[in-house]
Amino acid sequence: MTKIALAIHGGCGVMPENSMTPEEWEGARHDLAAALRAGYAVLKAGGPALDAVEAAVVVMEDSAHFNAGHGAALNEHGIHELDASIMDGATLEAGAIGTSRAIRNPVKAARALMEDGSAVFLVADAADRFAEAKGLAVEPQSYFTTQKRVEALAAMKTHAAAGTEGTENEKHGTVGAVALDAAGHLAAATSTGGYNNKPDGRVGDSPVIGAGTYARDGVCAVSGTGKGEYFIRYVVGHEIASRVAYLKQDLATAADGVVNHDLAPHHIGAGLVAVGAEGEIAAPYNTPGMFRGWVTPDGKAFVATHETIYEVTL
Ligand code: ASP
Repeated sequence: MTKIALAIHGGCGVMPENSMTPEEWEGARHDLAAALRAGYAVLKAGGPALDAVEAAVVVMEDSAHFNAGHGAALNEHGIHELDASIMDGATLEAGAIGTSRAIRNPVKAARALMEDGSAVFLVADAADRFAEAKGLAVEPQSYFTTQKRVEALAAMKTHAAAGTEGTENEKHGTVGAVALDAAGHLAAATSTGGYNNKPDGRVGDSPVIGAGTYARDGVCAVSGTGKGEYFIRYVVGHEIASRVAYLKQDLATAADGVVNHDLAPHHIGAGLVAVGAEGEIAAPYNTPGMFRGWVTPDGKAFVATHETIYEVTL
């Protein structure tokens, strides 16, 4: 059995301590740990990295603490439009869903599309119909809505009317997972509501293979969070994999170079989790915080929101 490893994120941002109550911070860490447990249980049992990343992302989609599934951001019309993708590093097969208004767990639909093989990317009504046809749960818009997102949208509208900038925290969030399984295969999955007050029909980086999500066996798996337009332009996931594969950079150097050097001049919030072929983990971010967690190849599990890192039991 080779090494196994898992890393997750629940989005990065300014995340001031007073933006959530101590109970909410604790709740977010609790749900990060639950996501780690769900993913790690798969890997520990010798299961595929694909199942592990899907399981971890489903837990975070179901949690109100993160901007994906239940608790997703609202667009400019107060509508949830959800993006997600998954990629198998072993085969380079991938599935992606854009602007779904109804799929309860968009990552499950992305996985079903990958397995169906009829397309890599489906959007809007067609994506929702595909999920329903595959027997996946669909929900009314109200399922995805939380008070926090309603307030964030109102705050963004106020900023827009006043011509001021909202904080990254009000704008962003995403969930994602990357894993290395016992067979040496890598996988990545990402799911998001995008950002509050985003344009109707806007698709971010999360479902764009190579940008917000990328996995290639022997190289690395990457899931990003941050202003998606820049992740698309810099093709962040593939860029990191290219530096590892062709420049022979170690994963931490490659990931850090993209987040803290290439993206830096744009002054956008950006972060990611990545796992390498040997189970090495990188989780750089350029904001004051990022919801994150990881399990190292020696089986130790950690979650964090800001600098303080908490060890958790699996
Ligand atoms: N990357 C996501 C998007 O642009 C948002 C985020 O992670 O903050 O849709």
